[in-house]
Amino acid sequence: MLDSAQLAWHSAKQDDITIYAPMSLNTQILVAAILGVLFGFLLNLLPGSAFYDGSLYGLSIASSIFIGLLKMLLIPLIFSSIVVGVSNLQASGQLSRVWKITLLCCVTTTTLALILGLACAHLFEVGKGVDVRLFQDAMSQHQTPDTLTPSSFFTNFIQNTLINPFKALAEGNVLAVVVFALFVGVALVKGGEQFRTVRRLSHQFFDIMMLMIGWVMKLAPLGIFALLAKLIATEDVTVLSRLAEFAVVVTGTTIFHGLVVLPLLLWLFGKMNPVTFFKGTRAALITAFATSSSSATMPLSMKCAQENLKVRPQTAGFVIPLGTQLNMDGTALYEAAAALFIANLMGLDLTLGQQLVVCATAMIASLGAPGIPSAGMVTMIMVLQSVGLPAEAIAILLPIDRLLDTVRTVVNVQGDMMISVVVDRYTRDDEITTQS
Ligand code: ASP
Repeated sequence: MLDSAQLAWHSAKQDDITIYAPMSLNTQILVAAILGVLFGFLLNLLPGSAFYDGSLYGLSIASSIFIGLLKMLLIPLIFSSIVVGVSNLQASGQLSRVWKITLLCCVTTTTLALILGLACAHLFEVGKGVDVRLFQDAMSQHQTPDTLTPSSFFTNFIQNTLINPFKALAEGNVLAVVVFALFVGVALVKGGEQFRTVRRLSHQFFDIMMLMIGWVMKLAPLGIFALLAKLIATEDVTVLSRLAEFAVVVTGTTIFHGLVVLPLLLWLFGKMNPVTFFKGTRAALITAFATSSSSATMPLSMKCAQENLKVRPQTAGFVIPLGTQLNMDGTALYEAAAALFIANLMGLDLTLGQQLVVCATAMIASLGAPGIPSAGMVTMIMVLQSVGLPAEAIAILLPIDRLLDTVRTVVNVQGDMMISVVVDRYTRDDEITTQS
């Protein structure tokens, strides 16, 4: 029995625990993001001061450590998660179904994003009535890149994908690693018992990677604080005002896709409450916003999908790395809207046929764009050239790209995690049916 003094001590201790209980990692990340933005604005007021320079140096170091750790884990994680995911799916006879549903989801959500991008650009007539001469200097100073047609893009795509896997691993060529890992995963199952040791080894290696991601996640609040503070302190936020209408329309439409279209699909096909989804994926979504890189965010997306959304590891391990490379709704939407913006700016009316060409090229471009900051700007050249628009027009968009990239990367990452939920639900039902 506890006497009254002991009881008082006990309850005081309980109170201490309640009062000093550390915030959950999710809350820490959210608070860090808000503080980072505020600190960035503060720095923005003090350019050139010793405080500004010192803080920027500290922020650069902290953000490089965080991004560096994520990149360090990325390639081994992609390789092991696909090998493990594919071999488990192949062993349970689900690989082809998972593959088909993933592809169907990617194409459907990207098509919806493209339609939305074009529709909103039409509705708000972005770029109409803006004097293109305002941007003449930027365009003439921009070096015209080599022509990038869909066929040359496709040839490059193949040439960069089917390469020596050691080169791919060393150079961090995500797509080539994905393809090689797919082959290894299938081969492990085809080989049966004789490869049991390698299969076990791959599983253990994957578990080690997940453990290490847990460690890196503990640094996420600091990393996100540093990344956002640095972004706000160094980007000229006022450049947005020159292209305000376009920036508002494209960001608003991307947010609509992320807050309405994708959650609706998730609710209909994944049978998951969108609030549960957003709560469970907050860490990955904020990291995507801060890094503008779906590849760097991938380790966190995988962890959130498995641990918070309860997606089976074999599904998340297969769908998320693949989605990171192939599924980019935010990028597709942006490219379609931006092509129309440039056409309007130049005073050109794109025919329906040309708009379909824009959609098809933007779809290919989003499939091929790597998940790194401003990758969409490079593939944008192909979209512009496909309908005869000048490639140097991207010079108009470049100054605001780093800022717009934040939101489209969030939607890219959100789409990957959402698809993993939908695919898992459909294949889980399969498993239950097969077992019963
Ligand atoms: N930054 C985007 C991503 O990593 C790609 C883009 O530039 O649109 O998903």
